[in-house]
Amino acid sequence: MAFPESTKIEALNNSAFRCCICHDLAADVHHIILKSKKGSDLIENAAPLCASCHDLFGDNPTKSKKIRQMRDYWWNVVKARNEFIVKTGRVEEQTYIEIDPNSRHLLKNQGIAFYHIILPHDTFEDAARVIFASIYKTQKNYPNQERYVFIDIEGHKNKNGGFDHDMYELQSYFNLHVVLPFVTRIYSPLISVQNRYSQNNNIPDNLEISNHEESKMLTKDILRFKP
Ligand SMILES: [Zn+2]
Repeated sequence: MAFPESTKIEALNNSAFRCCICHDLAADVHHIILKSKKGSDLIENAAPLCASCHDLFGDNPTKSKKIRQMRDYWWNVVKARNEFIVKTGRVEEQTYIEIDPNSRHLLKNQGIAFYHIILPHDTFEDAARVIFASIYKTQKNYPNQERYVFIDIEGHKNKNGGFDHDMYELQSYFNLHVVLPFVTRIYSPLISVQNRYSQNNNIPDNLEISNHEESKMLTKDILRFKP
């Protein structure tokens, strides 16, 4: 089901045919709570948006609250404007609607960055657990925000000045295969890499680091496929 035509027209009238976010011309009337999340076809759930604000909204459930607040605010502005026009019979400067493209940034993902320094006495397991716990906590406190992980490493050098085996494995195998699916980008001294798919927000409660030998083997496989 979609909005009934009469609801669409009511929503557009309430908005002065403008986007609730940036006040550019509205392209369509959107569901604040998605149909797939059992959002209704009532006026309470309707928000006219322009095409670019709709792209930024991207049907993201975490932005619904913000869209509703901005819609309510804008509908009040339009209501006051209409009352002014009716009362004075004039369309004056005060009633001219300005487009505010800056307000679109409110719908953009800000992203959450966390920074971890691995110290000389930290083991592979220590570091892996802290990194994974940070992802878990970030998802809990800032659900579905894009996560950026910055890792710095003190010490852990081999006699040739490269990273010791543990920190090499952490930055290659562990970061690429265990961490990357759950974040948007990882920065570490050896490898900075972007997740080509969308970040997975279903983060398991526990991290099992059981098969250290297997991960060593996988590390070798990665090396083989390195360009
Ligand atoms: Zn807009």
